[in-house]
Amino acid sequence: MPKETICKTVHQYNKEPVLQETMQKLQEIALDYCKVKNYVYQRYGGIKSLPKIYPGYTVQNEMTASGLRIQLGLPSVYFYLAVFDALGDIKNQWTQTKKRIQKCIKENSEFTPQDRHYLRFVLKMSACFESILLEEELHLQGEWKGKYDAVSSEVDVRKLNQYLCRQVRRHLKKMHTDTADGFSISEKAYRYKDHGIYIATKENRKRVFIPLTDNNHYKKQLYIILHPETGNLEIRVPVERAVKRHEDYKRTIGLAVGIRNMFVTDTGNVYGETYGEYQSELTEYVKQGLGSYRKHRKYNSGRKKYQAGKDRLEARLHTYINGEINRMLAAEKPKVIYVPRLPQSSKAGINKKINHSIGLWQRGYVRNRLSQKCREHSIELIEVFAKGISTECSSCGQRGERQDGVFTCLGCGMRMYEKQNTARNVLKRGRSLKEEGFKD
Ligand SMILES: [Zn+2]
Repeated sequence: MPKETICKTVHQYNKEPVLQETMQKLQEIALDYCKVKNYVYQRYGGIKSLPKIYPGYTVQNEMTASGLRIQLGLPSVYFYLAVFDALGDIKNQWTQTKKRIQKCIKENSEFTPQDRHYLRFVLKMSACFESILLEEELHLQGEWKGKYDAVSSEVDVRKLNQYLCRQVRRHLKKMHTDTADGFSISEKAYRYKDHGIYIATKENRKRVFIPLTDNNHYKKQLYIILHPETGNLEIRVPVERAVKRHEDYKRTIGLAVGIRNMFVTDTGNVYGETYGEYQSELTEYVKQGLGSYRKHRKYNSGRKKYQAGKDRLEARLHTYINGEINRMLAAEKPKVIYVPRLPQSSKAGINKKINHSIGLWQRGYVRNRLSQKCREHSIELIEVFAKGISTECSSCGQRGERQDGVFTCLGCGMRMYEKQNTARNVLKRGRSLKEEGFKD
């Protein structure tokens, strides 16, 4: 059996501020990269181009013939990556569109089961789907023809096809990007050497050099992100990692996820105890920064300093979060982790809004990292229904009160650290979820 792998992103950073001249050369590439992508979106993002985008050689050839590359003076190592990057977005957009249409079909109460069956069939069969959208005659052979004849025999094909075309027009969005802050780069366009990386520019044979903070070398397609306002740059490297399996990870645990303490388990163990401090430091910084930024909007250097400070605090918070998740997994040795489902964001005032949005954003980060690490260690992460989970007694199920971090049950009188009580409820709900699942 082939080893299961998981995709992970590794980051590399510049060691010293990138020279302005160097940054400009990189920005030129990013800008052209963006132009090429928009060209591809515009030319191939529509319904008529659907037959061309799989597998994409036609697009590649037509893009060569378009003369755009020569016109921009962009080296082909960048040009074709931009083309395929945009093509990937277009394919993704089609997948999303089909998903949305499937949902509409499911929710439309006027359809008969036969209608639904037909629509799902033609959505899946790309040959059918294309010919319907392009209003071309359908050519199917052998087994597929038999299947098509069967699903289309009892329905109004014309009416359903029109419905499908309408839905595609409604859901297929026009694509465009204004972000010119990065580009993909292939192996041919860079070389690691001298504790840094040499990157090809638009000038023939002239490469710019960026000293890096680490000495890792990769041989694959990378993505470069530019932060011209701070003179920084970031390299994203996708790497495949084998999924780890731990024979001794057997426990089932419930987690409460908090703002002060990152995680509290059902047995009362705490991870990320200083999470709240790091978090409020960042929030405070952003609040003050925004205030002074509004006052001194003219001074770009203030903006730069602010951004650098924010990046530093954020990086520190993220390192801390990752470290604490690792520590939790190693100590708890879980096979299954239950967590409360994230609530919908609520409305709040302006100051609250800043607190709130940073909190939300970091909470999203915590959740993403937890889910990524669970996948890496083949741990099952399951979300449970969270309503009322912190006000219910985990011992008898009755309502309780919370004060100074302590939960007191009004029914049985149990007293417990409130987050532990929550985590125990998470575990309880998770377990009953599993049992229901077995009954089905
Ligand atoms: Zn109770």
